[in-house]
Amino acid sequence: MTGIVGILAFDEIWDVSKFIFYSLIALQHRGYLKSGIAILNEGKINSKSDNVPPEDLSIEELNGWAGIGYTGTRHDYPVVLDNGAIVVDGIVKDHNILREIIRDPEKSIENVKEVMAFIALTKDGQIIAYRDEFGLKPLTLGGFGFDLAIVASEPTSMYVIGADYKREVNPGELIIIDKYYIENKQIKKPRKAYCTIEYIYQSRIDSKINELEIYDLRVRIGEQLAIERPIDADTVIGVPETALPFAIGYSRRTKIPLDLGFTRTGSPIRTMLASDDFVKLVGIQLKLNPIKSAVKGKRIVLIDDSMVTGTTLKNTIFNLRKLGAKEIHVLIGSPKLISQCPYGIEVPEEKELISANLNESEIARVLGANSIYWLSLEGLFKAIGHKNLCLGCMTRKYPVI
Ligand code: SF4
Repeated sequence: MTGIVGILAFDEIWDVSKFIFYSLIALQHRGYLKSGIAILNEGKINSKSDNVPPEDLSIEELNGWAGIGYTGTRHDYPVVLDNGAIVVDGIVKDHNILREIIRDPEKSIENVKEVMAFIALTKDGQIIAYRDEFGLKPLTLGGFGFDLAIVASEPTSMYVIGADYKREVNPGELIIIDKYYIENKQIKKPRKAYCTIEYIYQSRIDSKINELEIYDLRVRIGEQLAIERPIDADTVIGVPETALPFAIGYSRRTKIPLDLGFTRTGSPIRTMLASDDFVKLVGIQLKLNPIKSAVKGKRIVLIDDSMVTGTTLKNTIFNLRKLGAKEIHVLIGSPKLISQCPYGIEVPEEKELISANLNESEIARVLGANSIYWLSLEGLFKAIGHKNLCLGCMTRKYPVI
């Protein structure tokens, strides 16, 4: 999982390294085990990358008027080459492709199949960004008055530095930014298959992806769950933070009061992104410390965004029961995850996906829940408002790349 950003100042008096640093922090919900920045200064590219979240990246020696950055779980980006540097959200098997992309983006994109979205920085002082024709990975364009241009996975990286979101980069569109102009070319015809997980889980609540406000969309998913599965309960609780808008939507529609069921100790750990089981377990504890007076003796509708292995939910339910919850009915704001993602989102193998291996009553028993329900595909389409989606990990039908 990956967040990428590129910033170019229209005047060389600017130093963009701090802007990139903060923009990456605003993308670290997309993955934070590795990070890196490359900056152009007097025709030379200096870079720094490490196995740390962006907020721990030391950038003192980096300064310059154009640069790119990466935060993610797996890769050592930026890749610095003789003619520039590049960050990628997607899959790259051969790094020679990246050199070609920097040299002649238009021509090389014709031949590149596996890269999903990239931002490159050339030694000549250009930022080149491209989003594949399926739009599987998000990419957005923004600016800071007449001073800076920014291209990034999500607009959260723009808000944090006071920049304005302008628009999404269209699937198949190439953007070239230099000191004097911003040029865009539609290289390939869009064949939209937006990643559904971006809408449900991956993007931040205050983001706008493919021109859809993520918060509003997730509230609609909660309302849709209320239509599909109304439950006689005392309280609605969303698993922080992604599922909170789902719970708000469910509560609005059913009029069942909404409660804050959990509080957090320490900084958030995204358990799906955690590197080992111990971190996962501690992450769950830190992330989800239940509030006794909100749950004791209550019939609870507990809403989460997705269910992967079931470990997180099992622990959550165990903790709620320990504090005296009377009934726990689990609602999931996505259809069942039953298959892997070949495009870089870290969905585990099928044998680890609980929904691919057990039926509903078995899963409820394993989790210790009274009942469980997943959002229907039709409900998902209604909440999102279109069907131009990749649903591969939910249906095993993948877009043909
Ligand atoms: S397979 Fe799932 S996670 Fe991967 S791109 Fe498609 S919807 Fe997103």
